[in-house]
Amino acid sequence: MNATTPVTDSDPTDVVARRTHIQLADGRDLFYYDDLDTADFADSSAADTRDLPPMPGAARMRRDPLTGEWIPLASHRMNRTHLPARADCPLCPSKPDQAASEIPAADYNVVVFENRFPSLNVRDAEPPSRVDGQSIWPERASDGRCEVVCFTSDHESSFSALTPTQARTVIEAWADRTAELMQIPSVRDVFCFENRGEEIGVTLAHPHGQIYAYPYVPPRTAQHAARSAEHFADTGRDLLGDIVAAECEADRRIIMRGQHWTAFVPAAARWPVEVHMVPQRHVLSLAQTNDAERAELAKMYPALLRALDHFFVDGDGEAIPLPYIAGWFAAPKVDEPVDEAAQPRLHLQVISVMRAPGKLKYLAGSESAQGAWVSDTTPELIADRLKVVVELPAVQT
Ligand SMILES: [Zn+2]
Repeated sequence: MNATTPVTDSDPTDVVARRTHIQLADGRDLFYYDDLDTADFADSSAADTRDLPPMPGAARMRRDPLTGEWIPLASHRMNRTHLPARADCPLCPSKPDQAASEIPAADYNVVVFENRFPSLNVRDAEPPSRVDGQSIWPERASDGRCEVVCFTSDHESSFSALTPTQARTVIEAWADRTAELMQIPSVRDVFCFENRGEEIGVTLAHPHGQIYAYPYVPPRTAQHAARSAEHFADTGRDLLGDIVAAECEADRRIIMRGQHWTAFVPAAARWPVEVHMVPQRHVLSLAQTNDAERAELAKMYPALLRALDHFFVDGDGEAIPLPYIAGWFAAPKVDEPVDEAAQPRLHLQVISVMRAPGKLKYLAGSESAQGAWVSDTTPELIADRLKVVVELPAVQT
């Protein structure tokens, strides 16, 4: 069973990618996203030949009464695949002479599929209950969804190496999935992100990211929403718009500036390496970005990642690929109509725990236990270094 639909941006006549849906052997959804100018569409007729156990039902999550945060309990994830040998990579295309992977087609451009070991899952959700019968500990199904995004079929590549066309197809996939996942009634927030590098616990080397559709508003998004609402109440303006305007006026920590996007080290950066990228227009999610914004992002984002991969060099002057976490923060679903400017603007945050070649920042008592941060550097030093490497001929778009 498969169904092909065009993926469109805000202008429905401007189709830039093609989506094809299939189901895997255990009933999970898989979507092929093909560049429209590719000569090779993924073969969506290829079937998943594996004998997989059925997907588990939705796990549970409990609310911490001290903080109000929901904590999904995903104990089955202890058994998930961890750094398999190259030949057993579950994100490479399936090849005739090898064990079938998660992707049945023999090649693909971009693929999105439901995580086989999800911490959030809408299947067979049981009604809410209470832990040990105590009303202070609410428990309910963690009925969201976790998806995996394969950026390319090339196991050795990285997002920074994608062409603008390839990056554009990933952006189309993010936008399309964001719009669709926000339609799930239990979902409150959709977060597209990438973990890159073994140093931060990546379990698969293949270039990929994830999408979490949370059935609650996660803590950081909740903070962004609260601060944005406060700022709008005080000024009548959107908070990230004022932040970008201030960064542009100060012009001290700007790394890249396009027509539609601005990348900068925020004035109160907390990580050893940290860059934010914000659209010029107030949009709430990737799904709201338009053709021109996506086209520019498809060039700027890989260029930003290439610059980050030159942030540190080893003793021989060789660039050290930066372990990073890149996340797209969007506005959460609201219960009642709110002025859009009172809601947080879409933006990207790229952060790294690497503070020097071979040295990682460990999150200790203040950060881990208290959530209170102390920076080991200054945002201006981070920006000065990035301004040098973003101008290297090798990292120009
Ligand atoms: Zn692979």
